[in-house]
Amino acid sequence: MRKIPPMLMPRDGRFGSGPAKIRPEALASLASVGTSLLGTSHRQSPVKRLVGTIREGLSELYHLPSGYEVILGNGGASQFWDIAVCGLVEQRSAHGVFGEFGGKFATASAQAPHLADPIIHEVAPGSVVLPQPDDDADVHAWAHNETSTGAAAPVRRSGTEALTVIDGTSAAGALNVDPEQFDVYYFAPQKAFASDGGLWFALCSPAAIERAERIAASGRWIPTSLSLVEARANSLKNQTVNTPSLSTLWLMKEQLSWVLENGGISFAERRARENTDQVYTWAEEHAHATPFVEAEYRSPVVATIDFDDAIDATKIASTLRHNSIVDVEPYRKLGRNQLRFGLFPAVDAEDVSRLLGCIDWLLTHPEETPDA
Ligand SMILES: *Cc1c(COP(=O)(O)O)cnc(C)c1O
Repeated sequence: MRKIPPMLMPRDGRFGSGPAKIRPEALASLASVGTSLLGTSHRQSPVKRLVGTIREGLSELYHLPSGYEVILGNGGASQFWDIAVCGLVEQRSAHGVFGEFGGKFATASAQAPHLADPIIHEVAPGSVVLPQPDDDADVHAWAHNETSTGAAAPVRRSGTEALTVIDGTSAAGALNVDPEQFDVYYFAPQKAFASDGGLWFALCSPAAIERAERIAASGRWIPTSLSLVEARANSLKNQTVNTPSLSTLWLMKEQLSWVLENGGISFAERRARENTDQVYTWAEEHAHATPFVEAEYRSPVVATIDFDDAIDATKIASTLRHNSIVDVEPYRKLGRNQLRFGLFPAVDAEDVSRLLGCIDWLLTHPEETPDA
C-alpha cells in the first residue's frame, strides 16, 4: 500500500458520517471528569444536572418556543421510529423517502399492525421528495439530512393538520432549523453533535405532546421502552427511563457548550458549509469526479462524490484507511463508485483541504509508479 507523505496528512483522519469525529478536547475533558462521573448513579444530582444542562442547551441552541420540550431516551434514532409508530402516528403516516434512513421509518410504519399502510413518496438517491399537502395522513415524516446519500431537505410544514416529524440525526448540531416548522425534531448525537451513540433526543411541540398523551390514553398497547409519554415523564425530571450512557451525555454536553460559546447554530453551520463547499468545488473542478446530489439538495454536512471509471473509489478509500484517514467509503447499500465525507462542525477546514490534497496525491501517484 502506498504511504502518503506525512507532510500532506490531516491532523485528524476521521471523516466518517457517523459515528463521526469527536473533538479531542471533548475526549480529554471526558477523561478528566471520569472518576467523578463515570461509574456513578444516574439517579443522583451530577447526572441529573448534566441532563438538565443538555436539555437547556438544546432549547437555547434552537430557540425553542415556549411549550416545546426536550425529551430523551435510549436506543438511538432507530428506536425513535418505533416510538413514533407506537405513540405519534394515529392512523396513517406519509413519508418522503430519498435514501436508506427515511425508508426505514416508512418500513417501521408499514409493519405496524395497528396502522393503515403509509403513504410513501420515493425518489432515487441523489434527490429529495417530501410528503404532499393533500396526503391524508396524521404524521408527515422525512429526514432533514439523508446521511446515506448526502441530500439535505427543507424543513417546512405542509399546511395540513398532520404532525411534522423530522429525522434530524446528521443535521442536528450543524444545520439551522425553525422550530415553528416542525412538531418533532429527533436525532442521535453521534453525528453532527460529535458525541457517541446510544441516545435519542426529540424536540417536541405542544401538538406532538398532546398527540402522544392522547394515543397513550386511548388504550393502545405501548411497551414502556417505546413510550414517548414515559420518556417525557422522566425527561422532565432530567432522567431517562433506564440507564443512559454517561459518556455519551458528557460528550454531547461538551459539543453543545462549544457551539453555544462560539455563537450557536450559525457558527456550526458555517463550519460545516466551509468544509463541504471545499469538497464540492474540488469535485466540480476535477476531470473524473462529480458531486452525486443535485445542486439544490447538496448537503452542507455530508458530501458524496461520484468518480468515473478511470478511478477506483474503493481502492482510494482503502488506501486512505491504510494511512489512518478513515470512513470515507460510500453508504454500503448505495453501490456506487463513490466517496462519502462526513464534514460536521467538529471537522476543521484545514483538515478537509489536507484530505483533498491526499486524494490528489494518490490520484497522481498510481500504484505502478514508485512513490516520489
Ligand atoms: C445514523 C442515522 C440514523 C440511525 O441512527 P442510530 O442512532 O444508529 O439509530 C437515523 N437517521 C439518520 C438520518 C441517520 O443519519
